[in-house]
Amino acid sequence: MAERTLQVTGRLGLHARAAANLVRVANRFRSTLTIHRLDGSDAEADAKSILEILTLAASRGTKLRIVAHGVDEQEALDAVVGLFSRNFDEVEREDLEQSVPTTQQLRCKGLGVSDGVVLGRVLRFQEGAHEVYRAQIGDADLERERRRFRAAVRLSRRQLEAIKHRAEKELGRGHAYIFDAHLLFLEDAKLTRDVEDYIVKQRSNAEWAAKVVGDRLLSIYTQINDEYLRERGSDIEDVIQRLLANLTGEGRHYPNLSEDAVVVSRDLLPSTIAELDLSHVRAIATDTGGWTSHMAIIARGLGLTAVVGLRDFYQRTRTGDQIIVDARRGEVILHPTPATIAEYDFSRSEAPPIAANVTGVIESGPVTTRDGVSVALRANVELPTEFQAVREFGACGVGLFRSEFLLSRPGLMISEDEQYEAYKALAEAAGSDGAVVRLFDVGGEIGSELGERERNPALGLRAVRFNLRNQQVMRTQVRAILRAGAVGKLSLVIPMIADVADVRAAQKVIAEELENLTTSAIPCAKVPIGAMIEVPAAVLTAEKIAGEVDFFELGTNDLVQYTLAVDRGNDKVSDWFRTLHPAVLYGINRTLQAARAAVIPVIVCGEMASTPAYAVLLTGMGAVDLSMTPAMIPRVRSTLAQIETNQAREVALKCLESATADEVEEIVRSEFRTRWPDLFPPGKLPKASEPTA
Ligand code: PEP
Ligand code: MG
Repeated sequence: MAERTLQVTGRLGLHARAAANLVRVANRFRSTLTIHRLDGSDAEADAKSILEILTLAASRGTKLRIVAHGVDEQEALDAVVGLFSRNFDEVEREDLEQSVPTTQQLRCKGLGVSDGVVLGRVLRFQEGAHEVYRAQIGDADLERERRRFRAAVRLSRRQLEAIKHRAEKELGRGHAYIFDAHLLFLEDAKLTRDVEDYIVKQRSNAEWAAKVVGDRLLSIYTQINDEYLRERGSDIEDVIQRLLANLTGEGRHYPNLSEDAVVVSRDLLPSTIAELDLSHVRAIATDTGGWTSHMAIIARGLGLTAVVGLRDFYQRTRTGDQIIVDARRGEVILHPTPATIAEYDFSRSEAPPIAANVTGVIESGPVTTRDGVSVALRANVELPTEFQAVREFGACGVGLFRSEFLLSRPGLMISEDEQYEAYKALAEAAGSDGAVVRLFDVGGEIGSELGERERNPALGLRAVRFNLRNQQVMRTQVRAILRAGAVGKLSLVIPMIADVADVRAAQKVIAEELENLTTSAIPCAKVPIGAMIEVPAAVLTAEKIAGEVDFFELGTNDLVQYTLAVDRGNDKVSDWFRTLHPAVLYGINRTLQAARAAVIPVIVCGEMASTPAYAVLLTGMGAVDLSMTPAMIPRVRSTLAQIETNQAREVALKCLESATADEVEEIVRSEFRTRWPDLFPPGKLPKASEPTA
């Protein structure tokens, strides 16, 4: 045995390229070569495995012992020690690394959809079109799975060699080195042997095995303390993704998150946000999305700083990059300079929640306007983690529970008992004011994955249509709601109905389930049934529908989307998403009138109700029941307490006479400024096509 103690002296530590050189030298010898950290951590690595070397996280100054064992141990040790003393033959490439342009500060404009400014580290997250599923493999097929995996490795190698070759030609040798490291990752026994072992021991399909082993490796990286080395996690992530793509074209998994993660993604499914470890996510930044996309709504609900609609930002980032997300200015800054960071003074402000601007004790119950009109302020809730916010922000119960967020993944249904527990907890959180549970609004943006992908999901088998077509799913949910209705105050609302026929079809199912439960002597209660009015057809037949239900819920998000034919999640058409379009206002006004005539309540639960200026306009049209992101309640409360609804009505009538969204916005700006100058200084009023928080 031969051994030597030495210290890492290079500025970047034992990073990917240095490790790749070390593996190459070690592989020239037959002896085993092991590297031990000398800080009492017991960490050791095989010098022939790049992944093991990198998990040592040996930054500059780390003391190591190299142990060689075998026929040529002395030569092997001398060669490795020589490489360390020559700083891994790295000198001029470190300079090159310094000048890689991607580390220059880069500002990108998007749309801030919540409050807060956050300094953190990028965690790239690519929403896979498909998930990686585990399949149980029979003994006879295990060899086939291993062969499939080896074939995917071979294909990945060919691809990487081609990329490396092109990078060398186009960018020079210095820029292509990283693909050498990728190639070494790909062939590292720590990866390939572990995946094959997993396939055999767990009788697993190759995709699942690659995912589990890859995740384990990634999680080691995200916990590494050294900034430069931690960033190398994104290289491993790339390799794993390539492998998975070559196996099936599927999948992406969440690495363990570090404390200050900023999730950067092209697109983020609401269910993905719900699955993230929120104690570690500080902000999100996405290429797509708009103010009323569910992702934005959830981010606001959770008090997460978020900027959406950043177009091609994702491709400019790497996991581990430093980033500022400024939701107030609607911008992100990648690789901020020390001067930029100093401008923000992060030592003082720690991403204040939206309600932080509201001072004093949080009031609860309805708010009374100056002219004595009482307006109920309820909470929109998506996730059980938000239940406590209902009381915290003084809500009059829950005006809308978007129950589909109980389905942690699209297409993954949960049992009747699990749902029952969730609705019971919801009713408890809501208290005597009660909670409205919406039947699953799956399909559309949420995606159902129970069926085929649709060409036009927003106009497809969404919400009530999905429920009526998947009656088992609907019946299970209805039973859970009716049972929970026996122990707490609950109502049920049917989403996206177009006319009385939809209402009747849904009511029939609900009545049958009530009957079934009653005959089986299972405790349950008849609950009020409402209709979501969010489709123009429902607005136009509102008088008819009002005669058949106990209450209306006005979903202004979809009402804008469907009235104006503007996809609410598509940033390319966000300029056309005009909440204050006169056609939208006619729809709202007409719905409120129809409900008044039938003497049924209307809860306005779209994002419009969360925006103080819009809430005033809604009361001007006669709305007295608003449901919103809980954190916005104090702000809307303080605004409504200082206005007179008869004045708001005068403004609303003028708006209803306008021809364009620009005209309405101009009326709102000038009238609000004159009537309530303290409440609505210029910055607090809607700019063209942009909501104000
Ligand atoms: C709406 O459409 O306004 C609404 C409240 O429901 P969702 O945003 O979930 O579609
Ligand atoms: Mg809706």
